[in-house]
Amino acid sequence: MEKRRFNELGLSPEILKAVDKMGFEEASPIQTAVIPLLLAGRDVVGQSATGSGKTAAFAIPAIESVDAAKKSVQALILCPTRELAVQVAEEVAKLASFKRGVQEVPIYGGQSYERQYRALKAGAQIVIGTPGRVMDLMERGALRLDALRLVVLDEADRMLDMGFRDDINHILGLVPEERQILCFSATMPREIKDLITRFTRNPEWVKIEAQAQNAPQVEQIYFEVDRRSKLEALTRLIDVNDFRYGIIFCSTKIMVDELDEHLHARGYAVDRLHGDISQAQRNRVMEKFRRRGFEFLIATDVAARGLDVDELEVVFNYDLPNDAEDYTHRIGRTGRAGKSGQAFTFVSGRELYKLQGMVRYAKLNIRRERIPSLDEVEEARTNVFFEKIRSTLDAREFKPHDRMIDRLLDQGYASTDICSALIHLLQQGSSGAAKPTAASPAPAAKPSSGAPDWAERKTSPQRGDSEPASDDDTSAAPRSAKKSKYERPARTGEAGMVTLFFNVGRKQLVTPADIVGKVAGVTRLPASVVGAIDLRQRHSLVDVVAEHAPLVMQKLGGIRIKGEVLDVKIATAEE
Ligand code: ADP
Ligand code: MG
Repeated sequence: MEKRRFNELGLSPEILKAVDKMGFEEASPIQTAVIPLLLAGRDVVGQSATGSGKTAAFAIPAIESVDAAKKSVQALILCPTRELAVQVAEEVAKLASFKRGVQEVPIYGGQSYERQYRALKAGAQIVIGTPGRVMDLMERGALRLDALRLVVLDEADRMLDMGFRDDINHILGLVPEERQILCFSATMPREIKDLITRFTRNPEWVKIEAQAQNAPQVEQIYFEVDRRSKLEALTRLIDVNDFRYGIIFCSTKIMVDELDEHLHARGYAVDRLHGDISQAQRNRVMEKFRRRGFEFLIATDVAARGLDVDELEVVFNYDLPNDAEDYTHRIGRTGRAGKSGQAFTFVSGRELYKLQGMVRYAKLNIRRERIPSLDEVEEARTNVFFEKIRSTLDAREFKPHDRMIDRLLDQGYASTDICSALIHLLQQGSSGAAKPTAASPAPAAKPSSGAPDWAERKTSPQRGDSEPASDDDTSAAPRSAKKSKYERPARTGEAGMVTLFFNVGRKQLVTPADIVGKVAGVTRLPASVVGAIDLRQRHSLVDVVAEHAPLVMQKLGGIRIKGEVLDVKIATAEE
């Protein structure tokens, strides 16, 4: 299927302006096919890969079909999840931004009825919602569909999988005779076909082959890793490639939580999404991720379904997905809309056979590689450091310190030796040396001030506590620079910090990483709020940023760590 320019599709100037502002250069194949059909009044059944631009394919005709003068619901877009409804609503809002009087409203559970009532009352013409809530509002009389002209079923197969069949049938049974239907579905099981036969009239079938447009953009690699080494493998791959923006998929909520804690503890800026997280929180996480407020989103399939983010560098399949379809769905998150991306998949033990099955079934173009060695990681880290120095030099982003340097040169030291000594000091992260930048040192810095709290990732803690081999060589490793922070032998009572007493210690086999992980994981504060940790036999003394101490005590008290119920309080002098 060829692509066309948007101005060849018979669209209004307002839409063309919006599309241009959104940076779309040409219509994608599915858009090229679907938009004119819908504008011509046809029913359409469409299939095309994730990331191929289906949203605009229905949103544009939906907006064009609306009569702005009429304050009644004219287009209804049904989506499987709240996330998707919100995303679609956002895209509709952008596309309609130059259309005066066209208003959209997302309708989904977990949000107050108030707002949704108000928007409907105000005359929103485009409703985007999950079938359950749409039904609900119809029954309450708040949502009337008698002026409806277009119904879109986005990801219809997913909606059926999620148990919305009766709701969809019910809704479609109540919409006016004179209306168009567009049904997008990745797969065409019998139930979907039944639905199509029952509710559409002489639909046009549009199928865009996935292969041609999406898969080749994504470089797919798998790694055979032992289950216990996955975490180490993951961090090495992130470091070697210097990834800064990606999604890590796990198969269960528990895995998501665990990985979230571990990565937090290692100084990566991560957050998580899964079904047990409240809707409000999920919205916040997604919003933040889209703004690049953190680096890696750890998620289950369900939570990330349909998630629309641009320019992901990488998708990790930390756990192998269930089937080829989930796999394609997941990796479709990267390399979207023509940009290239990478997909890294971990397989352990017998999972290799499962992967081979998927490769055969879906004709995946995936190759094997081995996990980078520690030396390679170190080299990559050094390169990052080297680049940092070079760009600082090029940009002249530093104050001259000629006098001090002259003094050293006068005393007969070579300039190369002076530099080497400085690098050595930097990498030791010696606590006496003030940081060369204006920013305050990490532990006392408020996470919200200045640079995002992950900007310092490469210099923040701690790696490989589970694998001794990774602890042996700390040379040239910016990330390990502050490692000593967690291993200082005694309390230092740093300014702005408070020492807390934890009722667990070596006896319970608790490690500093466990403590940092728990604090970061449970409070959602960055790992840097934790300072020195002094592990004793049956208790520990943990420095935390003073202003966060009450929250740490409140959130950690009563939860379990290594099977022990935690008691956290302000440490007294004799401890
Ligand atoms: P799908 O629903 O098919 O998975 P989306 O509609 O979510 O795909 O689109 C994926 C991404 O591609 C979105 O970020 C969207 O803004 C972008 N996109 C859509 N159409 C175009 C286009 N014509 N040109 C460039 N980017 C586009
Ligand atoms: Mg979509």
